[in-house]
Amino acid sequence: MTNNGSLMPELAARSLARVWHPCTSMARAAQRPPLPLARGEGPWLFDSEGRRYFDAISSWWVNLFGHSDEGLRAAITAQLNTLPHAMLAGCTHEPVVRLAERLCARTGGALAHASFGSDGASAVEIALKQSFHAWRNQGRAGKRGFVALRGGYHGETLGALSVTDVAIFRDAYDPLLMRSRLVDAPDSRLGNQDQALAALAALLASEADQLAAVLIEPLVQGAAGMVMHSPDYLRELRRLCTAHGVHLIADEIAVGCGRTGRFFAWSHTEPAGPADWPDFLLLSKGITGGTLPLSVVLGSEAVFQAFWSDDPTRAFLHSHSYTGNPLACAAANAVLDRFDAGQEARCAEQAAWLAQAFAPLAQDPRVAHLRQRGTILAFDLPGAAADVAERFHLAGRAHGLLIRPIGRTVYLMPPYLVDPPTAAWLAEAVTDTLNDVV
Ligand SMILES: *Cc1c(COP(=O)(O)O)cnc(C)c1O
Repeated sequence: MTNNGSLMPELAARSLARVWHPCTSMARAAQRPPLPLARGEGPWLFDSEGRRYFDAISSWWVNLFGHSDEGLRAAITAQLNTLPHAMLAGCTHEPVVRLAERLCARTGGALAHASFGSDGASAVEIALKQSFHAWRNQGRAGKRGFVALRGGYHGETLGALSVTDVAIFRDAYDPLLMRSRLVDAPDSRLGNQDQALAALAALLASEADQLAAVLIEPLVQGAAGMVMHSPDYLRELRRLCTAHGVHLIADEIAVGCGRTGRFFAWSHTEPAGPADWPDFLLLSKGITGGTLPLSVVLGSEAVFQAFWSDDPTRAFLHSHSYTGNPLACAAANAVLDRFDAGQEARCAEQAAWLAQAFAPLAQDPRVAHLRQRGTILAFDLPGAAADVAERFHLAGRAHGLLIRPIGRTVYLMPPYLVDPPTAAWLAEAVTDTLNDVV
């Protein structure tokens, strides 16, 4: 049995018959059937026939410490044996309180209150609603517009999609979406940071009284194809938002939890005090190490105070059934234990090993814009055919690599299990795949 459609593995065929796969054209999925996975161990995923694949993109950027990590399993199991779930309205529990305390402490107290959701998109919805409602509570209900960056991605529920600029995900639903403002994204490949800031400054100067917030994926716009910018842009963005009285929402759903080499991507701006932090900071994906769905919206004291009232219409009455789920919070606390024990330094070390192993690709004539931030590494294949992403993905499997390029951008975002031999093996596997495809 092979994976090429004609002799599809039984589990893949059953899946295609009954499971509606995400981000997938089901009509075309028969040519690219799902990989039937049996188990995961460390960075490896094993299929039902025992072949293994290095999870070079951390299963859509969620996995931090490998699959079936022992520490995370132990934390979740202990919680499962005491309190698997209880509602968070009118009740509370140790895992959610500890997690909120620890995340706020990591901002030096600049962000002081944590709201919880179940996935990235629900965190974006919370932030959009809190931003608008905070202004409304301050008599500024006209401030209801949102500004996002071109190519930005913030999730796919209707509110989140309204601030997402990826045509393939968005266009069909455009009639249902809020009208948000888009500004050019700074892009290290284009050297356009000053123009991007000037355009944003002009928009804020003319429309701030109708704008609630600006959203940003700090340092790396993931779904846009790992488009990178410098911490300088973020510092200037903070200054502009403050000057014009517009909230700043840092969507660290992908880049948080150490991906950039620091726990928060925002820390690369070297904030000197609370005023240098965003008004909202969102985490999800890696927060549970890729074990359970959870998202967190950290908000400033000023935002929280805007809801401080006995009048229930001024309170934030948003909820999800699994808000603050104890199992997910226990996993997140176990992730934070790793960072308390020096994980940032290990991420930085692993970033250096990846840089060294992939450096020769910069000389490859097929490759452009080899770039890296922390353990996120990417390069473009400008001359490749339009279907290169799919062919690279399939060829990668033959080299024991689970990798999913975005358009003509190949990227790696591996679990934090890279050592020098692994980095060398990854560079070799990626180069072999490239040789097969381009
Ligand atoms: C993945 C992602 C989201 C959405 O998260 P989901 O859990 O998929 O809903 C939002 N923002 C960014 C930056 C992301 O990468």
